[in-house]
Amino acid sequence: MAKFDEKPIVKDPARDGIVPAPSIREHAAAEVKCWTSKAKDLKLIDLPTERVPDWQTKAIEKFGELLARNKALRVYMDICVRCGACTDKCQFFLGTGDPQNFPVARAELLRKVYRRYFTPGGQLFPDLADAADFDEDMLNKWYTYFYQCSECRRCSVFCPYGIDTAEITMAAREIMAHIGVSTKYVTEVVAKVYQHGNNLGIPAPAWKDNCEFLEEEIQNETGLPIRLPVDDEGADVLLVPPSADNFANTDTMIGYAKLFHFLGVRWTTSTYCNEGGNFGLFLDFQNLKKVNKRIIDAARMLGVKTIIWGECGHAWRAGILTPTLNGPMDMFDPPYPYHISQFMVDMLRRGAFDGKLDKTANDDVIVTYHDPC
Ligand code: SF4
Ligand code: SF4
Repeated sequence: MAKFDEKPIVKDPARDGIVPAPSIREHAAAEVKCWTSKAKDLKLIDLPTERVPDWQTKAIEKFGELLARNKALRVYMDICVRCGACTDKCQFFLGTGDPQNFPVARAELLRKVYRRYFTPGGQLFPDLADAADFDEDMLNKWYTYFYQCSECRRCSVFCPYGIDTAEITMAAREIMAHIGVSTKYVTEVVAKVYQHGNNLGIPAPAWKDNCEFLEEEIQNETGLPIRLPVDDEGADVLLVPPSADNFANTDTMIGYAKLFHFLGVRWTTSTYCNEGGNFGLFLDFQNLKKVNKRIIDAARMLGVKTIIWGECGHAWRAGILTPTLNGPMDMFDPPYPYHISQFMVDMLRRGAFDGKLDKTANDDVIVTYHDPC
């Protein structure tokens, strides 16, 4: 990342649970840019390795294609009334004070180009229509600010029209990827999925090794032979956790293993696809679809009946799109994307834990959800 304006934002304490908006700091995050992609990763994910010739024309063609394919995007381009209800809802604005990080201001970067090339007013009278050319300066702003949106969709909850800025960010990133402009953090991760089956680039032997290590940890803790099976053909359940659960957040992985053991569920992970996360969501539609398809393919290869997604905000946001991305799931039970929390609720309702849960064990803990990454 390039340098951020490091003057600290003076933060007022929350009042009645509400964090006040920071003072406006024009251009505070204008120089915060992600590292650009490496050619070796781009080759693996079928994207241009450098800015394509005639990039402006190609970008506008791609924009037109997206508008034709995604009716919601076209509606979002037209219906914003600049009410400002979303302005202080984005964590990137709250953290930087840069007004270009208002969700509406971020979306305007795409809308200005939309008006210039896709509306009669913008084509004829760009200044009157607040339209702008897609030039080097605009591309620079896109690259800067569309990569300062985590696609969390928090702002859309507050928009009276339900405008989903994440969809707008995704469109801008897809156009940029198409002309050879993307960021290393995302493309490197997607390339690792195609090479190793997971975002972290953990090779199959290391995945298996780590599962055995966790089995030993659990044995030491509980004295029980609780297993973390890998590539178990004929298992009932394929678990697709975020791969970090097997390497960094291992308590979560241990929790899954204990849960399935307690319930007597035959489960497995897959070394073809041991990743619920999907960075295609942050890049373009073709990679979103391709990464998602690995989950279905792994489930078919192992012959499981059920796919369960482990907990991960963006993994689940991509996971729930599975029927749209890769066809019906009617060969699985349930025939729709299924999250570990849903599985827990179903087990609770079926009485699997009756008489076995001590509700006082964690009643001193206050829990909260956070906006997904
Ligand atoms: S989707 Fe999230 S990160 Fe993006 S503009 Fe909205 S609130 Fe900000
Ligand atoms: S809340 Fe919705 S309509 Fe209002 S400015 Fe934001 S995106 Fe536009």
